[in-house]
Amino acid sequence: MAKKVVSTGSTTAKTGSTTVQAGFDYAPAPESRAIVDIKSSYGLFINGEFVDSTGGNSFKTISPSTEEVLAEIAEANDADVDAAVRAARRAYTRVWSKMSGAERGKYLYRIARIIQERAREFAVLESIDNGKPIKESRDVDVPTVAAHFFYYAGWADKLEFSGFGPDPKPLGVAGQIIPWNFPLLMLAWKIAPALACGNTVVLKPAETTPLTALLFAEVCQQADLPPGVVNIVTGAGPTGQAIVSHPDVDKVAFTGSTDVGRAIAKAIAGTEKKVTLELGGKAANIVFEDSPVDQAVEGIVNGIFFNQGHVCCAGSRLLVQESVADEVLERLKRRMATLRVGDPLDKNTDIGAINSAEQLAKIRELSEIGELEGAERWSPPCELPAHGFWFPPTIFTGVTAAHRIAREEIFGPVLSVITFRTPAEAVEKANNTPFGLSAGIWTEKGSRILWMASRLRAGVVWANTFNRFDPTSPFGGYKESGYGREGGRHGLEAYLR
Ligand code: ADP
Repeated sequence: MAKKVVSTGSTTAKTGSTTVQAGFDYAPAPESRAIVDIKSSYGLFINGEFVDSTGGNSFKTISPSTEEVLAEIAEANDADVDAAVRAARRAYTRVWSKMSGAERGKYLYRIARIIQERAREFAVLESIDNGKPIKESRDVDVPTVAAHFFYYAGWADKLEFSGFGPDPKPLGVAGQIIPWNFPLLMLAWKIAPALACGNTVVLKPAETTPLTALLFAEVCQQADLPPGVVNIVTGAGPTGQAIVSHPDVDKVAFTGSTDVGRAIAKAIAGTEKKVTLELGGKAANIVFEDSPVDQAVEGIVNGIFFNQGHVCCAGSRLLVQESVADEVLERLKRRMATLRVGDPLDKNTDIGAINSAEQLAKIRELSEIGELEGAERWSPPCELPAHGFWFPPTIFTGVTAAHRIAREEIFGPVLSVITFRTPAEAVEKANNTPFGLSAGIWTEKGSRILWMASRLRAGVVWANTFNRFDPTSPFGGYKESGYGREGGRHGLEAYLR
């Protein structure tokens, strides 16, 4: 792959007091694409079948790492969304809500097992369409997707013991709109609990990453899921709006930007629809002087560079105690110099492609603003491929709460570093954000973890780890990060009356 060098210099980088060596060169280790069969065009999945859009419009999905056009995707208009909602309503009334929980569970177990059987196919396709490294799609996304279906399959026949009443009932038709950062995982978070509770769904994947949702539609066929229980409609904002405003949708579940979340909350205000919103974040990853530094550095790297930082709960603000700030930063820079950026299908890649040109422009803009506002920017020497959308792992030091990079979600591999002296100051700085999705605490003291966790206004608090996802654990936010919980027993509530 042709490379262009963005930060000049050899493979050594000055990190202040020390010179660090970048990792040794790795031979290419590409995962084969042969396992996926990408069709030249895809229709909408309505009532168990792939159909053309009635308007005949389509859009392209591209590989963000090469800018290659992968496929032409049907764009659903209002009439298509209506057809999908009607199919979902029919399936709900005639089949799915009447079926016993144990029977529904069997379908969910079947889907989970098929995902496991086709795991490599899903992982490769996800990496191609999204740009994320294969080691993440293979080892995190897809296994967690299967785990979600297994977990909620287990709940399907035990809903009366879930704590939501003696005989909890489904809501009906759920309209679900998901983003591009974890395309298949967000689908699983939405579809698995909805189906387990007896709802049927119309789901819209993001316009830049529709392919794994369409492959999931094939899995529904393979699992003999009754037609109409799952409908997948592709398109952009207007298709999402058609789902949200459809009068026969009983529940809207959305994950995405705070702006769109606000628009959705307004659109359904005054209707009977139930809603859950999982929006942005600006998590503090808080490192105390007594933390195990090497582990903390791994946690910082995982917190912000996992999935190119396209993570709503990313640890995008590092709060480090002043007494260890120099040491932590030095080790962090040394570790960053070993991160490999490039081909998502290479098994050694740590940081893949930015998902779209639009997202890359946003990351660049906010990073430039960071510099203009006086923060100091640093990236290791890093070769970026000539084609596709790329951004090097970046940190900003000298950041204060007034800086835009400390307040706004960048949704890219960009970390803002802030220092603190006391635990109380750490809490104050961590909570000084309109968001409240997640936080991380690194310390040796269990008592301090509990003291901090009870004061942090964040839906998820990780202690001595970061970005851990488990189907049994509820996830969701405070404040502008949204409302409602997904995952765990709590995640059932969003789909029950
Ligand atoms: P991101 O910043 O992650 O791109 P968006 O909130 O723009 O987040 O997109 C998340 C999902 O919401 C996508 O599937 C997108 O197509 C959809 N979407 C965008 N605008 C609207 C809207 N006005 N109503 C409903 N869905 C929308």
